[in-house]
Amino acid sequence: MLAAARAVDGDRVAETSDGRYVRRVGPSPGQPLPLVLSVPADRPPGLYAALVGAVVLAALLAVLAAWRLARVTTRPLMELAGAVDRVTDGDLTARVPVRSRDEIGRLARAFNRMTRETGSYVAALTSSRDQLRGHLAVLGDTLASTHDLHRILRVILHSAIAATGARAGVVLLVDSDGVLVGQCAEGLEGRWPGGDPADPATLRVPVGTGVVGAVAATGEPQRGRWAPPAVPTGEPVCETYVAVPFAAPGAAELGLRGGPERPGHPPAEGDGDGGASALGVLALYDQLGGHGFDDDDLATLRTFAGHAAVAVDNVRVHEEAQRLSLTDPLTGLWNYRYLRESIRREVERANRFGRMLSVLALDLDRFKDVNDTWGHAAGDAVLIEFARRVRGEIREVDLAFRQGGEEFVVLLPETDARGAAIVAERLGAVVRDSPVAVDGHSGAPVRVAVTVSIGIAVYPDHAATGQQVLDAADEALYAAKAAGRDGYRVAQPPHAPAEEIPVPAGALGPPEGPPRSGAPDAAGGVPGGASSGPHPPRQSRGR
Ligand code: GH3
Ligand code: MG
Ligand code: MG
Repeated sequence: MLAAARAVDGDRVAETSDGRYVRRVGPSPGQPLPLVLSVPADRPPGLYAALVGAVVLAALLAVLAAWRLARVTTRPLMELAGAVDRVTDGDLTARVPVRSRDEIGRLARAFNRMTRETGSYVAALTSSRDQLRGHLAVLGDTLASTHDLHRILRVILHSAIAATGARAGVVLLVDSDGVLVGQCAEGLEGRWPGGDPADPATLRVPVGTGVVGAVAATGEPQRGRWAPPAVPTGEPVCETYVAVPFAAPGAAELGLRGGPERPGHPPAEGDGDGGASALGVLALYDQLGGHGFDDDDLATLRTFAGHAAVAVDNVRVHEEAQRLSLTDPLTGLWNYRYLRESIRREVERANRFGRMLSVLALDLDRFKDVNDTWGHAAGDAVLIEFARRVRGEIREVDLAFRQGGEEFVVLLPETDARGAAIVAERLGAVVRDSPVAVDGHSGAPVRVAVTVSIGIAVYPDHAATGQQVLDAADEALYAAKAAGRDGYRVAQPPHAPAEEIPVPAGALGPPEGPPRSGAPDAAGGVPGGASSGPHPPRQSRGR
């Protein structure tokens, strides 16, 4: 080092071979000795590389940390966004993992709950839609396939109950007396004190009385909570109710009655609508859950009431068409077509129950003379009056038919020859006793004397089939005509001798008393004496 110092020239710094810096400071005034300063030349060779490496490492770590941080924050959001996309596409099973308890975790939990609840809501809606679809299918099938009004109303009521969540309900129709009569009911057990839920027809509420009566009277629907009336109305008792009216359009114009028709014969012209239209009420009770029926339920019920109205109208129109196709337009009695149906049905019924069925064949006497003398219109008037009198003389279960022209048939179920003879006597008398008033040639009223001849046959005594018993009654009618008209004859048993046996009045008389006035004489059931010559040709029955 000293050698190096010696070699240093002046004040300059020299570097030694062993890696030191040397400087010589020469003597100066006040400092007589020369100084040699030597410091190590401290310059490690890898320092810079290490420095650069450290910086790069730090930078890498920073990037890694930022990437990690970014991933932790954005991943849940990405998952959420993906799930939202799936929900948007209709997949309500989409869920996101909950990774933390922070806001993002809460967001994920809320999202999962929301999709779960929406899923169950949609499932409930789908199932109720499927249920409703099923009910509508049944309703549609029923409406299309049957004219059984009670069945249709039952299906409508059932569907309305299912659609609104009611526990009970009833459909009522107004009858000809202005009384609402139950047609079908569901769930009334325990809600109808004093009534018989198994027989809805026993539910009778006068229009204007109680809730359903008020709905029928005003035509306005009602809903609310039940308040017991001061005077019992006969209505079901409930907590909540909704009731809507329905009116079948066209029923009033057709002059239809709400109530049942007389079974023995169809109603004659103007035989009364009784002022009643086919008005009814559909009422539901006690919604599941206890909360009352709301406006939506009311709207739903109106729809079903509309169905009921159309059904009632359709059935009534159908019944009317049926009735018209089976009745004689002049007299209003059943026609020949219905006779064929009825004789088959009645014979079958008599057969099944081991009963008798009597058939009366009636033919007005010398009716051609009435036409020839007083004209065809007067003849028609006689036929109408004759039919009216026949109707008045028979029971509800009996059936009267105009077979054609001035020929009629009366069916008397559960009646033997003796009972049939009593009816024949009565019919003969009611025709004979008061001549029929018709318009004469000058328009002035004239009274036309009319009589009728009657043949009687009894199933199974005189025939084995419906047609045979009709033929047998016809044969007996021939005999009555041949015997002089204005009387009756009973047919012969199939294997008896060919000639007619006169029926003694005593043998045919009712045990309750003698025949009515104008009864056939004892000689043979045919008043007016002997047969009057050859019998006129008979109308063919070959239809
Ligand atoms: P009989 O005592 O033998 O039965 O005599 P009849 O004159 O009643 O018998 P016939 O069968 O010969 O005549 C039936 C008449 O009834 C013929 C026809 O002018 C009349 N007639 C049939 N249908 C109608 C109808 O709808 N209106 C009217 N006014 N007359 C009818
Ligand atoms: Mg005649
Ligand atoms: Mg005739």
